[in-house]
Amino acid sequence: MAYMVERVQLAEPRGFCAGVEMAIKSLTWMVRVFEAPVYCYHEIVHNRWVVDAFERVGVIFVNSMDDVPPGAPVMLSAHGSAPEVVAAAQTSAGVVVDAVCPLVTKVHHEVKTLTDKGFQILYIGHEGHDEAVGTIAEAPEHITLIEPERGLESFTAKDPTKVALLAQTTLGLFEWQDVLQQSQAEFPELKTARKSDLCYATTNRQEAVQQLSTSADLVLVVGSDSSSNTRALVRVAHEAGIPAYRIDNAEAIEPEWLTGVEIVGVTAGASAPDHLVSEVIDRINPRNGVELIQVTKEGEYFPLPPQLRGFLTALQAVVEAGFSASDRGGRGLLEDDRSWTATEALDLISE
Ligand code: SF4
Repeated sequence: MAYMVERVQLAEPRGFCAGVEMAIKSLTWMVRVFEAPVYCYHEIVHNRWVVDAFERVGVIFVNSMDDVPPGAPVMLSAHGSAPEVVAAAQTSAGVVVDAVCPLVTKVHHEVKTLTDKGFQILYIGHEGHDEAVGTIAEAPEHITLIEPERGLESFTAKDPTKVALLAQTTLGLFEWQDVLQQSQAEFPELKTARKSDLCYATTNRQEAVQQLSTSADLVLVVGSDSSSNTRALVRVAHEAGIPAYRIDNAEAIEPEWLTGVEIVGVTAGASAPDHLVSEVIDRINPRNGVELIQVTKEGEYFPLPPQLRGFLTALQAVVEAGFSASDRGGRGLLEDDRSWTATEALDLISE
């Protein structure tokens, strides 16, 4: 069933960030190079469609390294893994590729540096989220998890001059600011990142939703429920007083949401493929087309993980033969990694 609204306003940037691009391309290399099954510790990115696509080509997603047979190839997800998980993978797996986003790695480093200097760390994040679990595991005895909606209620400082504030990269900007203000009021010497640990992709997508919220009657956010940055985009629209819904795909749109609506803002979380956004727009069927609402242009690029580059360099000849001239017009993918996208990678494994 197609709906009729006046116009769609499409957020830019939306969808895949540089970390997700890198992780999807990395896992694509793994399934092209190794015989199935390839194992992946945690969902490679938090999107059901992407995970299903990899499962169809023989990737097995696990939540424990105990579920990986010795000697099997393993990828660690973009959200970052606990040190003991990395160590277990290195001990038992045949090949280990850590697809952690460099911006998550940066927070892991901050944890280590600050705890070495004797700081107690307040970490704003969501309990049980893969990124929060991996980061807290760097120094669990020195970190207190702060759920953004609960604030500092459970925290007592041993030394109020030695408190630091870190955050999950995918929080809502307003959630970060609320806890930051509270923490600075309580600990005037609070140590924290110059801006915040929220990544560029999180903040850009949220700014685009803020912009949409000045004119749209409704905001639809494409992405999975497990995706923290997707859910943050919904909260940003709600903060601006606009009705907003997270949807997995076009089929999830409820007709009553569009009653009396003229302008629909559409965006997508950092792990949602763009074809799902196109299907949503087709389903909404705007009378006067699609208007792009661009708040900034992104050019970030993260290279493939060093373990994968090293491994592929060693196998270059075999790998080039595996991808063949028909896939990439004869260009070597290792040298050309910047110019192919995660969308192309997903197309390759979906053929
Ligand atoms: S959302 Fe940010 S931290 Fe997460 S993978 Fe993307 S760039 Fe990295």
